[in-house]
Amino acid sequence: MNGNTEAKEARLAELIGAARNMVVFTGAGISTESGIPDFRSPGGVWSRIKPIQFEDFVASPDARRESWRRVFSGERGWTGAQPNSGHDVIANWVTTGKASAVITQNVDNLHQLSGVPEDKVIELHGNAGYAHCLECGQRSELAALAPEFERDGEVGPCSHCGGLIKLATVSFGQPMPWSAMHRAERATLRCDLFLAIGSSLQVYPAAGFPEMAKQVGAKLVILNREETPLDGMADLAIHGEIGTTLSAAQSV
Ligand code: NAD
Repeated sequence: MNGNTEAKEARLAELIGAARNMVVFTGAGISTESGIPDFRSPGGVWSRIKPIQFEDFVASPDARRESWRRVFSGERGWTGAQPNSGHDVIANWVTTGKASAVITQNVDNLHQLSGVPEDKVIELHGNAGYAHCLECGQRSELAALAPEFERDGEVGPCSHCGGLIKLATVSFGQPMPWSAMHRAERATLRCDLFLAIGSSLQVYPAAGFPEMAKQVGAKLVILNREETPLDGMADLAIHGEIGTTLSAAQSV
């Protein structure tokens, strides 16, 4: 570790110490230390699996079958994953009242598993742990759908209203969840420190929240292994590993 890294970790600890209402924003990078590949790093999800667009899921039975095959094959890597030290540091900030909310682009449920209360996690891109009906919203557990998939190679329509059932994630081309967007905006507008962790900050509208925080006068910190397009507007940009940086900042 060089002096520059130490100085940045100390500055991070200082900003966190001074914050009265911190909001944490996370991307796929927080979960790579739990063994879940991110999207854009070499070997990440995009280099191996082409995303299925929402309109294709709705229009094509073949696309739906492929989508369910991916869900039940576990090839995305989030089945059975456990929170890592980065998740634990964030959970500690929330439970001690330092952070008011965690806005996440992740669908892996690891913030909740690390102890962040459900009502403090704002999921912009949904959750891969269950499915729901696109018409009536009725929730279905994956374990309950698995026998049908094993038998038929697909998942049939909603027993309640006949609508299409889909994993409760937000696919490319799918409308953003209104309630999560609204909660994320409220949390962002109220915070005095916005900490963006493990996101390439290339996916909009999610990446609009760090910009919004900065525009309303909050301090902005970006922690990511590589540069992001928003580093130039940040009060502090740290290019480092998440687990070690957060643990170090906590112990300063
Ligand atoms: P991204 O893949 O675009 O960016 C992740 C960033 O994290 C990269 O810039 C990478 O350099 C950095 N990173 C990876 N591991 C790191 C580490 N240990 N320390 C520091 N930095 C690290 O991900 P994104 O910005 O979240 O956007 C992609 C979309 O993909 C998200 O919207 C999300 O819905 C989805 N996704 C989610 C998961 C998940 O739930 N865990 C996994 C893959 C993709």
